[in-house]
Amino acid sequence: MKMRLSRSIVGQAEAKAVSRVLLEDGYLGMGNETRMFEEELAQFLEVEPWQVVSVNSGTAALHLACQAARTLQAPTKGQPEILVPALTFVASFQAITAAGCKPIACDVLLETGTLDLEDAAKKLTPNTIALMYVDYASNPWNLDGVIDFAKAHGLRLIEDAAHAFGCRHHGRRIGSFGDLVCFSFDGIKNITCGEGGCLVCFDHASADLVGDARLLGVVGDTQKRFAGARSWDADVKGQGYRYHLSNIMAAIGREQLKRLPSEFIPKRTLRAQVYGQRLCKQEHVALFTTDPKDFIVPHIQVIRVLNGKKEAVRQGLEAQGIPTGLHYKPNHLHSFFGGGQEHLPHVEQLFQEIVTLPLHPALSCQDVEEICAAVSKILATA
Ligand SMILES: *Cc1c(COP(=O)(O)O)cnc(C)c1O
Repeated sequence: MKMRLSRSIVGQAEAKAVSRVLLEDGYLGMGNETRMFEEELAQFLEVEPWQVVSVNSGTAALHLACQAARTLQAPTKGQPEILVPALTFVASFQAITAAGCKPIACDVLLETGTLDLEDAAKKLTPNTIALMYVDYASNPWNLDGVIDFAKAHGLRLIEDAAHAFGCRHHGRRIGSFGDLVCFSFDGIKNITCGEGGCLVCFDHASADLVGDARLLGVVGDTQKRFAGARSWDADVKGQGYRYHLSNIMAAIGREQLKRLPSEFIPKRTLRAQVYGQRLCKQEHVALFTTDPKDFIVPHIQVIRVLNGKKEAVRQGLEAQGIPTGLHYKPNHLHSFFGGGQEHLPHVEQLFQEIVTLPLHPALSCQDVEEICAAVSKILATA
């Protein structure tokens, strides 16, 4: 079989859960399965059930988080601005513009690929309402420092934790602390619903706002649906969307959550360890730094290939049937987000260096060894 860069790991358990919803329950919308998935997520994340709001994608979670920040922060004279590292999935930027805010692209640290707070500090204006932090490659680097920074400047903190489900920062589970934490359960994330996501809120105003906004803004519709009823005459107080998670997707997510601790976490961490051991001394390769006090459940395996040798490595691997990825094209280079008017030296340097290697639980450790051997061989002659 052809080697894959990433993939969903689903099987009989998920198939049975979906057929239970289809054949026994017959209610495919947002109902009991969704409620139980939220409760189980809350338990896993070590928070209260009211704090977890499931949605149908990670992008929807980010969009609602940006809308909550915009609605609950004091109004600004100019267009509200949200600071965000340029090295992220385009979903982070699109969520900001979807909420009517302006993404302010920030540089990242070369050693980690995560937000450079010093650069963010330089870009604060009276219109800044929030900071979006991205746990790039599952790395919650300096998250405590980022939380302090947001507090000190009166900003809402939106965490794009799409890569970081299952991780811990200094002992605490990602999603168990912070402000507005967003997860994705799309097909290739640490757990999947097919498509899905959730927000974790730490104040009732935000939880109520996003809970209603995911159901077209109909006030209190979540509680109605979880009780098997509908809201026929409830008020609508703000802009809402059809962002709720269906019973079908929630049923898949519930099975995935069961498999995460015993299966996905050990498999992902072991494969990343093999990459680390094989590549840490490799000439022309640099690996991102992580904090030994953090526990990382790796979603993607990104390496830096130095000295202008990235293209040789990428093409050499592809020629041998080893797929590679790019996480990510820096967002400030997209025409919609300024087309590179801004200069972000570290992000632009990393763009020339980063290559994503295959990583998922179905990849064998032998595969990882072979990929590393292929990288070494290419670099010996490149
Ligand atoms: C996957 C991802 C998202 C978006 O999640 P979807 O569920 O695909 O909408 C956002 N940000 C990052 C960094 C991601 O990797």
